[in-house]
Amino acid sequence: MPQDRQFERVKQRIAGYRDEMIALQRELVRRVAVGPDSDGPGEGEKAAFLTEALTQLGLKVENYPAPDDRVAGGSRPNLVARLPGSRPETLWILSHLDVVPAGELQLWESDPFTLRVEGDRLYGRGTEDDHHGIVISWFAVKALMDEGLTPSRQVALALVSDEETGSQKGLGYLLDHQRELFSERDLIIVPDAGNADGTLVEISEKSLLWLRFEIKGRQCHASKPQLGINTLRACAHLIVALETLQKEFNQTDTLFFPPISTFESTKKEANVLNINTVPGHDVFYLDCRVLPVYDLSLIKTRVTEIASTLQVRFGVEINIQTVQEVQSPPATPIEAPVVQTLCRAIEEVYQRPARPGGIGGSTVAALFRRVGLPAAVWMTVCDTAHQPNEYTTLENLIGDCQVLARVMLDAG
Ligand SMILES: [Zn+2]
Repeated sequence: MPQDRQFERVKQRIAGYRDEMIALQRELVRRVAVGPDSDGPGEGEKAAFLTEALTQLGLKVENYPAPDDRVAGGSRPNLVARLPGSRPETLWILSHLDVVPAGELQLWESDPFTLRVEGDRLYGRGTEDDHHGIVISWFAVKALMDEGLTPSRQVALALVSDEETGSQKGLGYLLDHQRELFSERDLIIVPDAGNADGTLVEISEKSLLWLRFEIKGRQCHASKPQLGINTLRACAHLIVALETLQKEFNQTDTLFFPPISTFESTKKEANVLNINTVPGHDVFYLDCRVLPVYDLSLIKTRVTEIASTLQVRFGVEINIQTVQEVQSPPATPIEAPVVQTLCRAIEEVYQRPARPGGIGGSTVAALFRRVGLPAAVWMTVCDTAHQPNEYTTLENLIGDCQVLARVMLDAG
């Protein structure tokens, strides 16, 4: 059968999985896979269900459990379900089993852990993040099997734990203990972030640096400011002085939007309770999203210099603390086969140009990139992850599933 005709049939078959996709989402949503770091039971129940169902589908399923005595059974599951291909190299599709807690229940219009279908939308905790990834990879595999087609590479669905709370018991564990599972020749797709029209293929992330500034001076009555040292004024000057970072670290990279590093003062802790007191203690935070070309230690050194100047000028004491620091690994190259194959498949299914790009947040793909494995993050999102009334749409599930099926057939 000619290739195009073949894929037309795969696409039609996937469009026919509508009800089965809803049924799978329903089973996933009701198995509450909140991790123990968020006081949940872990991913065990969801993994047991998936192991049985994927085995029934005809896949070979292995588990690489990460020990964790905080959950029943004493370990966190990391499943790998395989479908043989024409070649031994693997196409990996990595989704995560865990979900974030429901959050404030009164903000939900229905029970977060019971699927609600309304028109094209499927509501429930996890429907987008990351059941979307599980469902589209599952039904892409099923479509090939139902059509009697062999994927060009072996397909491996990785369903990992602990993505929402650091990945130490999930992908981090697999890379530390089962590194031989992955090869530089494999293609790795992570359906866990993207944009609303499915055209963004994420290949790079900005580095993240969160700093806490504590300024100590001397409190006094506001009518006699000469007796005190006003930390709020010092704070304001420091915030303005830090704007020089934007000018000094001014490289641009059009992979990102905005294409620059950003240095934003964000949280300000409360100081005095009344208007007629000069504050002698202030705390604020800086959120830095830095292009991967810069070493974060350079930023920190510069921040310390700026603060020391202000310290002298205002007679305050400034302590800087690093709250979080994540140096991004180098980007997955645009010419990497996973990026090229994925972009071609997106363009064919959605009839829109796909665009490799970077994001300011961070995803689990950074762990792959850190060990030199080229990974691409992609899916079509409704941008409701971690929010009340999280949902995904059947239209996006079907379209994204068709994209993955195309990649499975094409990935040479
Ligand atoms: Zn996620």
